[in-house]
Amino acid sequence: MNCSTIQRKRDCARTMDRNKPSPLNVMVVDDDAATLRLVARIVSSAGHQVLQANNGREALDTILQTPPDLVVCDWDMPELDGVQLCREVRQQLLTHYVYFLLLTGRSSEGETVEGLAAGADDFVTKPINRGIFLARLEAGSRIVRMERQLRSFSERDSLTGILNRRKFHECLGREWERATRHGRPLSCVMIDLDFFKRINDEHGHASGDLALQAVARLLCDQGRSSDILCRYGGEEFCVLVPETDELGAVRWAERVRDVISETPLAVGDLTLPITASFGVAERLADTAGPEQLVELADQALAVAKYSGRNRVVRFGTLKEPMLNPSDRQAAADPLGGVLARDVMAVALVCPNQNDTVRYVADLFLQSRVDSAPVVDDTGVVTGIVSEADLLARTSLGQGWDDQVGEVMRTNAVCYEEDTPIEQVYEFLSRVSIPRIVVVDQGRPSGVISRATLLCWFRNWVATQERGGSDARQAHEADERDRRKAGVIRTSAATAQRANDLCRRIMEEDGDFVPRVVGEATRLQSLAGDLLGYCRSGNVP
Ligand code: GH3
Ligand code: MG
Ligand code: MG
Repeated sequence: MNCSTIQRKRDCARTMDRNKPSPLNVMVVDDDAATLRLVARIVSSAGHQVLQANNGREALDTILQTPPDLVVCDWDMPELDGVQLCREVRQQLLTHYVYFLLLTGRSSEGETVEGLAAGADDFVTKPINRGIFLARLEAGSRIVRMERQLRSFSERDSLTGILNRRKFHECLGREWERATRHGRPLSCVMIDLDFFKRINDEHGHASGDLALQAVARLLCDQGRSSDILCRYGGEEFCVLVPETDELGAVRWAERVRDVISETPLAVGDLTLPITASFGVAERLADTAGPEQLVELADQALAVAKYSGRNRVVRFGTLKEPMLNPSDRQAAADPLGGVLARDVMAVALVCPNQNDTVRYVADLFLQSRVDSAPVVDDTGVVTGIVSEADLLARTSLGQGWDDQVGEVMRTNAVCYEEDTPIEQVYEFLSRVSIPRIVVVDQGRPSGVISRATLLCWFRNWVATQERGGSDARQAHEADERDRRKAGVIRTSAATAQRANDLCRRIMEEDGDFVPRVVGEATRLQSLAGDLLGYCRSGNVP
């Protein structure tokens, strides 16, 4: 039985009766069969579940695998005695505290100190007095229940009672370790409720809370005892499914999706129809680690959302081509034959990883960009930094002198300039990452974001919408005039800025470098616009 099985049993116990104390798992260890039987009987009469072990070694093996709540252990046993057992257990990092009650005929000061130093919590002297033993057992139970409650506060989500994200990641590490060591399948399912905000907006936050509790209960009921379920964030849940491959996890997710969509939630007097989207991923040989497994499920979930919600998407399908090439040929295709370099926005700003946050923030403000590839001293991309990253670092009024290398995201996704744009499109459609860096042999030359692609599609559609030949000629003439006007306007602005710069450098003292850098960036942007007017159908 692993930690999640115990967790689920306790959840159930908690739901059944909140006032009645739940029974503890008590292990009784004694090499003397008659005492073992007697103690087991008394413990059982107090309403606890009893596990028995005939010696210290057997007890240790069981405790390490499935730690009980409380151990009642004879001191004098051959091979591994009670004090040694206690010492061994205290050296282990177990899922919870194990309370130790030592049975002993010894009562000298030295022996009491030795027992406590080994980690024992209390003693019961032999021959056993039933009343005293039960009283000490009850005292230990109080400590165990209090520890359980404290642990529950730190491990569980207070609204739904299921594991919180912190505890989930702890279990994830353990399950990953187990699956990797034994070559067993492990899958992860990310779940996000669809349009949940509407429930709050239409029925109030309290109803939203009840709905979240109802969904958590439903997920609990639909899962196996070995599954590890957590509330990952607001209306997001994550389930780790051991011993299950991607297809198995998809079958489970489809079943749960059906149940959710077909049974409106009973929330007070209301019945609220709700649906959920699911992303599923499985641990494969090339999955970098437990965190990446969750990230892949999250990417699949993002696709489930983009593609209409109330559906299950498995990460495996994202690696398969979306459309076969002949389908693309058949349709008029805005991506056909286009390369990344044709679509990218030129990378005007490429800070060095050693630049300060202050310097990069100024560059962003001056050059009207909201993100930029970051390079090392050789000019090769090492990361990407956005306004949001700078804000996160500086929001407390500090961090301005930190290096941008500490703030950037190191997982910049790079594509060579000659990559077919279709590949970039497919990538950006599937993942939550908003932009990629276009490189020429590792050096950044541009950036493509979803917004860049949208702009490209919009311009492409504009070129397709031209009607018959008269209409087309009229449209082309209009377009030429419009572009010409744009060139005149932009070149005038360029001349004005260049003249201003010239005048200020001549008239003002002080360091001209920051002024020139800022102005040059704006001029570069204007030059980009000028070039844009020369490209047919590509409105800057
Ligand atoms: P989508 O289908 O795109 O996921 O739409 P959505 O409305 O579910 O997603 P969005 O991220 O826009 O909104 C999530 C909502 O979940 C907004 C937030 O108020 C609500 N929420 C998050 N945590 C809680 C909570 O603890 N209680 C309640 N009542 N609402 C919550
Ligand atoms: Mg949602
Ligand atoms: Mg959400």
